[in-house]
Amino acid sequence: MKILVSSCLLGEDVRFDGANSSIAYNPKLRFADKEIFMDLMCENEIYSFCPEVEGGLSIPRIPAQITSFEKPFKVINENGEDVTINFLMGAKKTLDLCLNEGIKVALMKAKSPSCGNLQTYDGTFSQTLVDKPGMTAKLLMENGIEVFNETQLKELKSFIKKNK
Ligand code: SF4
Repeated sequence: MKILVSSCLLGEDVRFDGANSSIAYNPKLRFADKEIFMDLMCENEIYSFCPEVEGGLSIPRIPAQITSFEKPFKVINENGEDVTINFLMGAKKTLDLCLNEGIKVALMKAKSPSCGNLQTYDGTFSQTLVDKPGMTAKLLMENGIEVFNETQLKELKSFIKKNK
């Protein structure tokens, strides 16, 4: 099955701080979870994508958070600069890739203002989470694409088994 994966989870240095969020090398993750991840990566067709970079933002970049979760959406960075257009473009490009390639499932980084599927930060830069998805995850889910995060590898595995 084709799976879209946040590039940072695959170990690519695309995060705002120039680092990655590699699942394979995360010391906090259990070996069993890493094993599921490696099996999924080896047995499926992987599409690595970073919505923020594809939306035109640099590496490194100033961290940003969503301040308006409904239309008109607003995303600002820690310097107060409006980066909404970059987040919207990144989300649109990710959706276009999924539609063009027939990708129906994604593994995306939890809590990211782009990739988080369940939660992200509330726009106050105070480390406060809200139960709302990031911009790209939201657009994908609204278009029928299943989105899992790195704490949901077992669920992703079950989804793939059922939908092969
Ligand atoms: S936008 Fe997504 S893929 Fe890119 S660094 Fe952030 S969480 Fe990772």
